[in-house]
Amino acid sequence: MSDVPGTDLPTTTAARTEPQQARNKPTDEELRQRLTPEQYHVTQEAGTERAFTGEYWDCHDEGIYRCIVCDTPLYSSLHKFDSGTGWPSFTCPVDKNAVATSVDTSYGMVRTEVTCATCGAHLGHVFDDGPPPTGLRYCMNSAALRLDRDLPPDQQASGAS
Ligand SMILES: [Zn+2]
Repeated sequence: MSDVPGTDLPTTTAARTEPQQARNKPTDEELRQRLTPEQYHVTQEAGTERAFTGEYWDCHDEGIYRCIVCDTPLYSSLHKFDSGTGWPSFTCPVDKNAVATSVDTSYGMVRTEVTCATCGAHLGHVFDDGPPPTGLRYCMNSAALRLDRDLPPDQQASGAS
């Protein structure tokens, strides 16, 4: 063990505000290699795929939708409904702590952005015009999700209660 003073001081800057996200987040270079350009644009640049073009808007398979970036289970096919919008839509996440929300005022609109609570990936937006029981519509991008058909859809679904 070295006793050199000063070498273990943390180098803090104002920009480093997400220490817990860094734990599970791959490097930008790795993401650019692993994700498709659209997946990267949606999750890292808060992009939106064109309606009716994504992989999952009309998907009715059972399973758990994971974050495309960090693999965290986010949504269940049990809570998926046909919103008619052309994007995969859910009434709730599998666990309310799985996603984070924040106010998004881009494009002259006031919307609630939804991000992965684990890695910070942009997922989509949530609106309050959804069906019962929550009245919420989590409008997600297919490009931010990966359907894991090997997981039962009731996995970690306790967040709905
Ligand atoms: Zn994630």
